[in-house]
Amino acid sequence: QFLHDLLDLKGNIRVFCRVRPFTLEESIGGGIAAVLALDTSNLLLKLGDNKTKRYTFDNVFQGSSQDGVFSEVEPVIKSVLDGYNACIFAYGQTGTGKTFTMEGTLDSPGIVPRTIETLFKQALDSNHTFLITFSMLEIYLGNLKDLLVPQPTRATDPLPPCLSIQTDPKGGIGIENLVSIQVSDFNQALKLYRLGCQLRSTASTNSNTTSSRSHCMIRISMTCFDAPERRREMNKIWLVDLGGSERVVKTKAWGRRLDEGKAINLSLSALGDVIHALQRKKSHIPYRNSKLTQVLKDSLGEDSKTLMLVHVSPKEEDLCETICSLNFAARVK
Ligand code: ADP
Ligand code: MG
Repeated sequence: QFLHDLLDLKGNIRVFCRVRPFTLEESIGGGIAAVLALDTSNLLLKLGDNKTKRYTFDNVFQGSSQDGVFSEVEPVIKSVLDGYNACIFAYGQTGTGKTFTMEGTLDSPGIVPRTIETLFKQALDSNHTFLITFSMLEIYLGNLKDLLVPQPTRATDPLPPCLSIQTDPKGGIGIENLVSIQVSDFNQALKLYRLGCQLRSTASTNSNTTSSRSHCMIRISMTCFDAPERRREMNKIWLVDLGGSERVVKTKAWGRRLDEGKAINLSLSALGDVIHALQRKKSHIPYRNSKLTQVLKDSLGEDSKTLMLVHVSPKEEDLCETICSLNFAARVK
């Protein structure tokens, strides 16, 4: 508890930055770096003409391992068992490593599988009994889609029920029809997660582009049965791989791609507005401006921990998008 009080001094919203390493091809091509990390909390942006701009974060990762990143993220995850709700976001331009950070690879698992492992381990080690449930959904073009329910493959198959957001009088949020599966061990949860990831990438005809144009959200909720009254409610953590933040006007997209881009851009700025308003303790928090912020309403706020992981490209040619991402980070800090 003392440790938590100490951490609370820093506020409930942290902003980290992760710089993607150069790929082999890029380094062969002699890529010039536009972003340089100075130390663990300062990032330097090279603007040309010997001009630079410094951005300060709670943490900067460059060349860090998945382990290294997770050890800094872990306190937020552990706070869930202490009675907090939490949200962890991966933000950034497409191709900057959001999915690498959240999902990772089999050899180097990311935040989601590690969180699942940590939560189960912690629940086992504690003196209390927890009921743990797992859900996974996608927000695409402003629609919610359950990632644990396979989409019909034939036109004659019945459509799965629509998901809708419900608010209860106490301000709690429910997602009607969202599948929530009780999981009793780490492997079971991991299997569900892999299933959801698979559905995410196969459901669309154009998997890569569509997945970068949707938000992928994982919810793990924990209910303690035998805790003192005050702590007996359900706590949850959301792990969100956000849609790519690149601005559509710049990408010369049209038709469906333009709609997708607009929907993502709108919801990302709505998220920025909500966190900005929370940071400044405004009386009105504009949750209603997007599905994303509506879904997260009861997990983003006073008694919740929020971690924004802003991803940037090291490349000079991505400078414009990097500036936008760093400005977003500065606004929510
Ligand atoms: P995004 O989800 O933001 O579009 P990805 O996670 O798909 O980006 O990353 C793009 C590519 O860069 C992938 O091939 C990924 O494996 C690689 N990559 C991203 N970040 C890292 C990192 N920190 N270390 C090694 N490879 C990375
Ligand atoms: Mg991705």
